[in-house]
Amino acid sequence: DRPIRVRFAPSPTGSLHLGNARTALYNWLIARRTSGTFVLRLEDTDVDRHQEGAEAAIYEDLRWLGLDWDEGPDVGGPHGPYRQSERHDRYAAAAAALIEGDRAYRCFCTDDRIEDVRTRQRAAGQVPRYDGHCLQTDRDESARRAAAGEPFAIRFRTIPALADPEQVWIAVRDEIRGDLEFAAKELGDPVLVRRDGRATYNFAVVVDDAGMEIDLVVRGDDHLSNTPRQVQLFEALGARPPVFAHVPMVRGTDGEKLSKRHGATSVAEYRRLGYPPEAVLNALVLLGWGPQDDDAVLDLDRMVREFEPARVSRSPSTFDPAKLDWLASKHIQSMPVATLAARVAEALIGAGALPADAPADAGPWFEGVAEMLRTKVERMNQVPDRAAALFAAGGKPADDGAGEVLLADGAGDVVRALDAALSAGEPSDAEAWKAVVARVKQDAGVKGKALFHPLRVAVTGSTAGPELDRLVPLVVAGHRAYPDHVPGLAARVRRTLEEMR
Ligand code: GLU
Repeated sequence: DRPIRVRFAPSPTGSLHLGNARTALYNWLIARRTSGTFVLRLEDTDVDRHQEGAEAAIYEDLRWLGLDWDEGPDVGGPHGPYRQSERHDRYAAAAAALIEGDRAYRCFCTDDRIEDVRTRQRAAGQVPRYDGHCLQTDRDESARRAAAGEPFAIRFRTIPALADPEQVWIAVRDEIRGDLEFAAKELGDPVLVRRDGRATYNFAVVVDDAGMEIDLVVRGDDHLSNTPRQVQLFEALGARPPVFAHVPMVRGTDGEKLSKRHGATSVAEYRRLGYPPEAVLNALVLLGWGPQDDDAVLDLDRMVREFEPARVSRSPSTFDPAKLDWLASKHIQSMPVATLAARVAEALIGAGALPADAPADAGPWFEGVAEMLRTKVERMNQVPDRAAALFAAGGKPADDGAGEVLLADGAGDVVRALDAALSAGEPSDAEAWKAVVARVKQDAGVKGKALFHPLRVAVTGSTAGPELDRLVPLVVAGHRAYPDHVPGLAARVRRTLEEMR
């Protein structure tokens, strides 16, 4: 229960993939649960894959999800810098120390030689791995060749001098998979520093995790094969290896690895589609973990209280967009009205239905609109469409069905009676609207569908939409707040009537 230091170490190659975002979330939950530290480190040494703006995209994704970091490239911290591209000196110093301690050596082999060795090994049915050729170079000779400017890579000495290769085993502690053991002789001597001086992933990650005092590494199980090499490197550098938690791969509903073929797979895409971040987080946490009970609608507080890495499943998890929709509607249904109202406002403004600066007293109106839509949307992009009745101008009906309603017997009487009833004033609440309806019913002499369908079409231009008891007062108040954007009730009815003539 002590405070645990964890890190999220994305390579800045674009918006976070759902699998990566889940890794971020699991790390964050552990940090918050233990009052520990969540470190953000950018693994940006792969110049070829580096993308302009990718770092900002990662920040944006994490912020949108509500996952804050305690140390990182932008906020700094005691173990910085937090971009690998700025940590070159540390890797060079660690490599020099390993050479000094005889746990690493310079490799002068050319690509051609290494390729020849591999070809021969493959032909002999062996797993290709470096044959240790440069290990035979005498240390002074090696230093002399380096000083003379001969290019070299630096390799790790997986089997220490004098050790029996058969006896070198590497123990990995994994919260999810249990204790694992690997035979060192299978690993070969991995490159730590390339000929151009750049540290490899396996080396940089260990220098950084050691330097940043990371206690627990939570990451995708695609990294599992790297782990024994990394554990050995920690030990060679005199650092205690962290505990690991390798989380299972994410699949689509067809059982295949989640990819573009499955549709939206990045956090940014779901943000753009208007999903609530609460629902995306909920879907992410369920990729491999679930609480004791089967009530799967979770907010961050509950996740922090209940999340345990040891209970993450070992088998691949499935991302199901239908489940996300379901979670989204659940989260919207339980969202505080002020939060929902703010998002509804943002969606309507974003779609151009309303101007950016709201009148000072529009708060209650937005809350009313939010309550009207609460059970009707699962993502905020649906708001403009589902709120269309608020912005209807009357006049020509929106569709054929609505047109037919106005052609039916008695419809003209209803709309005329409504027009007359509204001249006494527009109903600002449900009671007042009910009184208007009662009068129209009496004046037009119709009831049921023959009454309600023309009323609806006269107000909204459509046969479907929110309950009029709720909608009408919002139209009236909306017109007062936004006279240029929300057409008034009486004007709609008047225009409909004119259209019917
Ligand atoms: N940069 C690596 C990745 O994005 C991080 C791996 C790790 O967490 O060690 O896959």
